[in-house]
Amino acid sequence: MLTTHANGRVAGKVAIVTGASRGLGVAQARLLAAQGARVVMTSGRSVAAGEAAAAVIGPSACFIRHDVRDAEGWARVVGEAERRFGPVSVLVNNAGIVIPAAVEQQTEAEFRETFEVNQLGTFLGIQAVIPSMRRAGGGSIVNISSVAGLRSSLASIAYGGTKWAIRGMSRTAAVELAAQRIRVNVVFPGFFETDAMKLATPEKKTAMIASVPLKRMGELDELAAMVLFLASDESAYCTGGEYTVDGGVTAQ
Ligand code: NAP
Repeated sequence: MLTTHANGRVAGKVAIVTGASRGLGVAQARLLAAQGARVVMTSGRSVAAGEAAAAVIGPSACFIRHDVRDAEGWARVVGEAERRFGPVSVLVNNAGIVIPAAVEQQTEAEFRETFEVNQLGTFLGIQAVIPSMRRAGGGSIVNISSVAGLRSSLASIAYGGTKWAIRGMSRTAAVELAAQRIRVNVVFPGFFETDAMKLATPEKKTAMIASVPLKRMGELDELAAMVLFLASDESAYCTGGEYTVDGGVTAQ
């Protein structure tokens, strides 16, 4: 039987959201906190922006500087989350970078950096939260991929490769961790107006919107709403699932 919480859809849960200094990560942290979770927000560089975003949310959120490539740093983040709020029950692996380039032009250094942030960072996050989620009696891991993880995308040899890998890692982890009551799901955002999107030229943006059946970019809270559902017990029977939030792009 589904329990509904008067205090919010994720009341009592402790969440870590990576890449939460701006963009989709901040929207996710805000919505999770608004629905009763206590949230540790992290990002690698933008400390002032991350601290400001956490301060706007209030005492149910805090910001910790952490580069997702840093394995020891992951132990510190999980430890700090437990000390402040209790065992971790939700992880959103949201941090990601994109360095667009044609196949021939993408450098090895760019490829390695994209792999380390997007794929290795997600792997380290999954691994780091398992003991804490066990202590919490189970948990929900939400990995943020992209529509570039479902099909080919222009100038996306490194980025698309990591986003496909996140999809594969999510299925593997979902099956393996199910016995420990840890669910793992993956979300495929379409086009959302964030800093990452600033890399696209106005012509490319117009073409992107034209390619979306709903004929607009997504609102940041529309992606956060899917993350909230997967973080909550409303999705208790969902694991190894794949969820597009893309205005219909990949249905074509
Ligand atoms: P964004 O505005 O560029 O924000 C990216 C976030 O990731 C920032 O908070 C950034 O913080 C953090 N980050 C980058 N490298 C990091 C590292 N090494 N360690 C820790 N944090 C790091 O991006 P966004 O558009 O919100 O995207 C969020 C996620 O959604 C990404 O995984 C992206 O691939 C995915 N996505 C976005 C779209 C879209 O349309 N926007 C579409 C498909 C998928 P610092 O700079 O402070 O490190």
